[in-house]
Amino acid sequence: MHLPRLFMLLTALSLADMASANGPVVIDKPSGEYQLPQRAIDTNEIPLMVLDADAPDDEPLPYYRIAEDSYMLFGNIAELDEENRGWNGNAGFVVTKEGVFVIDALGTPKLGRRLLATIRSVTQQPVRYLLLTHNHPDHAYGAIAFRRDSGAEVIAHAGMLDYLGSEQLHSSVAYRRELLGSDMDGFEAVEPDMVIDPPAYGEQRLSLGDKTFVIYNSGRHHSHGDLVVQQLPQQILWISDLAFNQRTTFMGDGNSRQAIESQQWLLQQFADAKLMVPGHGSAQRAPFTMVSNTRSYMQRLREEMGEAVEAGIALQQAVERSDFPEWHTTRLYQLNHRANAHFVYREMELELF
Ligand SMILES: [Zn+2]
Repeated sequence: MHLPRLFMLLTALSLADMASANGPVVIDKPSGEYQLPQRAIDTNEIPLMVLDADAPDDEPLPYYRIAEDSYMLFGNIAELDEENRGWNGNAGFVVTKEGVFVIDALGTPKLGRRLLATIRSVTQQPVRYLLLTHNHPDHAYGAIAFRRDSGAEVIAHAGMLDYLGSEQLHSSVAYRRELLGSDMDGFEAVEPDMVIDPPAYGEQRLSLGDKTFVIYNSGRHHSHGDLVVQQLPQQILWISDLAFNQRTTFMGDGNSRQAIESQQWLLQQFADAKLMVPGHGSAQRAPFTMVSNTRSYMQRLREEMGEAVEAGIALQQAVERSDFPEWHTTRLYQLNHRANAHFVYREMELELF
C-alpha cells in the first residue's frame, strides 16, 4: 500500500473514532484556550474557554457530535465577559441530505461567523434554516452572519417581532458593543423569514431531507416567545432555556407560572425523548433531571415570594431573606438568585392582588 493512502486512511479512522466517542472536536492549534469536557452528554464537567478577540472569523469553534448527523456547541457556563466573548450558551446543527438545520446563532456576529465556519468544517451541505429559539442575545445576536453569509431562512417565534424594535434590544446591543468591541461589528437585528405563531404548545412541521423538525410554541416563559424543537427520527429535543443544566436559571424575563406549565408539558409529552439539549449546560438523557430541578427551583421561589407578599413583607426584605443552600454550589446562583427572587416577588404581587 502506498504510504499517502495509508496516512489518509489513518486520518479518516482517527476522526471517525473521535466522533464516535462523542468527545470534543477541536482544530489543530486553535486561537484562545479551551478546557473541554470529555463529552457533552450527562457530564458534570464544564467547558472553560477563553476566546481570542483576534481569532480569524473562519476558524471553527470546538464542537461535539451528540448523535448521528447532530452536533452541539457546548458554551461556557458563565455570565457574558471579555474572556468568553459572548460564548456563554449552546448552539447546535443537524446535517440532512438536503442541507443543514441550525439551532441558535450564539451571542455576537463574530461568533455567528465562527459557527458558520464550524458547520462548513463538517459538511458541504448548504445551510437551509437557522432557528432562533428565542430573542435573548446569547442565542440570537449571531444571526446576522447567517443572513449575510448563508442562504439560510431564519425562523423565530412571533414574539421576536416585538423584541426587534424594543428598548431592551438597544440597551443590550450597546452593552455588548462596549464590552466586546469588534466582535459586535456589523450587528443588525435580523427579521425572521418564517414566523412561528401557533397556539400554545401547537406545532409547525418542517421536513428537510431525511429528517423532520417539529417546532413547538412553548409559550412566553423565558423571553418574548420561546420555541422547542423536536428532531425526528432521532427523538432529540432542543429545549432552549426551558430548563438549565449545570447552572441556576435566569428569570429576568418571561413568566414563571408559564415556565412551570411548560416544563410539565415537556416532561409529559416527551418522556421518551432520547436526548434533551438545553440552551445552557450539557445535554441529558432521561429522566431529564435538569427539567425537574429547574422546575422545583422556580416552584420554591414562587411559594416563598407568594408567602412574603401575603404576609406584607417588603420586596427588599423578602429578597434579602431568600436563600436556597442546596443551590449554593451551582454556577450563577450568587449572581442570579437575588434577581430571580426580585422578579418572582413582582410576579406574585400581580398574581395575588
Ligand atoms: Zn440563554
